Amino acid sequence: MLRRAGPSLRHFLLERKSSAGYSSYFSEAKMSRPVQSRRLEGVDKNIWVEFVKLAATYSRVNLGQGFPDFPPPDFLKEALETALSRENYMLHQYTRAFGHPPLVKILAQFYGKLLGQDLDPMTDVMVTVGAYQALFCCFQAFVDEGDEVIIIEPFFDCYEPMVTMAGGTPVFIPLRPKAPEDGKMMSSADWKLDSAELASKFNERTKAIVLNSPNNPLGKVFSQGELELIADLCVKHDVLCISDEVYEWLVYDGKEHIRIASLPGMWDRTVIIGSAGKTFSATGWKVGWAVGPNRLLQHIRTMHQNSVYHCATIAQEAVAQVFQREFMLYGKPDSYFAQLPKELQKKRDWLVQSLDAAGMKPIIPEGTYFLLADISNFKSDVPDVPNSDEPYDSRFAKWMVKNKGLAAIPLSAFYCGAHKNNYSHFIRFCFAKEEATLKAANDILQKWKQEKTSP
Ligand code: PMP
Ligand code: GLN
Repeated sequence: MLRRAGPSLRHFLLERKSSAGYSSYFSEAKMSRPVQSRRLEGVDKNIWVEFVKLAATYSRVNLGQGFPDFPPPDFLKEALETALSRENYMLHQYTRAFGHPPLVKILAQFYGKLLGQDLDPMTDVMVTVGAYQALFCCFQAFVDEGDEVIIIEPFFDCYEPMVTMAGGTPVFIPLRPKAPEDGKMMSSADWKLDSAELASKFNERTKAIVLNSPNNPLGKVFSQGELELIADLCVKHDVLCISDEVYEWLVYDGKEHIRIASLPGMWDRTVIIGSAGKTFSATGWKVGWAVGPNRLLQHIRTMHQNSVYHCATIAQEAVAQVFQREFMLYGKPDSYFAQLPKELQKKRDWLVQSLDAAGMKPIIPEGTYFLLADISNFKSDVPDVPNSDEPYDSRFAKWMVKNKGLAAIPLSAFYCGAHKNNYSHFIRFCFAKEEATLKAANDILQKWKQEKTSP
């Protein structure tokens, strides 16, 4: 309101402020013009705001929002301590707007090696406040009114509101589950794209496709063939690829994470998004990055310089140091990028067994630290309400946290409004947890099963 006030009104308001009547002026006056912009329409609800609050209020065991409850590696904490030491006092001040030089340098070196190409740290890498900000900058930088953006379902929820806030239209394509062979548990690899259906989504209005491999919430790691299909369509229709690879190091059973930017014709049209929070088990650090060719990154920099401008120097310095360490150890067993997935795979297998024994059929994830479980066998506890506005899995997850103290996230939260009810009998668990937490979850599940089976 102050921003829009003319000189005399501003003078009047300042006078009121100095005579202590300022706050009452605001409480009395009502604006007659609308205070909500087009960008905010339909994006006010957020699954994390809702379920983080429910978990904080009711849960004894929280396998909902994705974060490890075990400590980050010692070398990460040591890197921060070193950055905080007396002689490094300038690390408390601003650094370069588009990324602290030591961090962009090592990221360029690291991704250059992974992609087999020379990267310029000053133009091909930008540091952001978590992967979230990198995503936001991408959509704001590239998507205009009328542009379409293809999103593969299930998808990390923020893609949809970020596209609509930029004025674009999200176009959804679901991964379709195929029944596994008899006697086998379902795997995230059983969820596939239909190639003809995918091709039908591309047209002259398509600006970008969002790829998230390994995928949150399913844990799917896209195969070479699937990535080639997407890449060919991007090249054919001159479409950008926003490649959210925050779980790039969390891949199991010897599977390989393939970077779509390394496929023919893709480097020039892909922005890779990464997160130190996921990579080093420290989600609260909120250090992320975007990697891509200057022709794309220049626009992301424009968004960044006009919004956040600059990320915390000290955290960037510490992340630079730990990336240096990982660069030296790359491919060796001591590397955190080798050790973390090994540890998480054990936790995955443990939770898979526990859910299976309780009758909640798990889908084995190939990557990430999430897994989905089928809740169809639990309908007797939480009866279906026909024609309810709320998807079944959402009501189930709320009931479960309130009545059993176990927090999880409904799968329908990762679908667009029109498709939510098609995929509403799964809930997502995060297994990046201490053994004691997973055991406590198991206790709840087994007790629940006993109550169900005993007369
Ligand atoms: N993308 C995906 C797929 C995620 O799961 C997350 C986790 N919140 C993010 C992006 C955002 O990451 P960050 O915490 O680094 O902002
Ligand atoms: N990526 C995490 C998850 O999927 C956290 C999401 C969030 O807090 N926005 O659980």
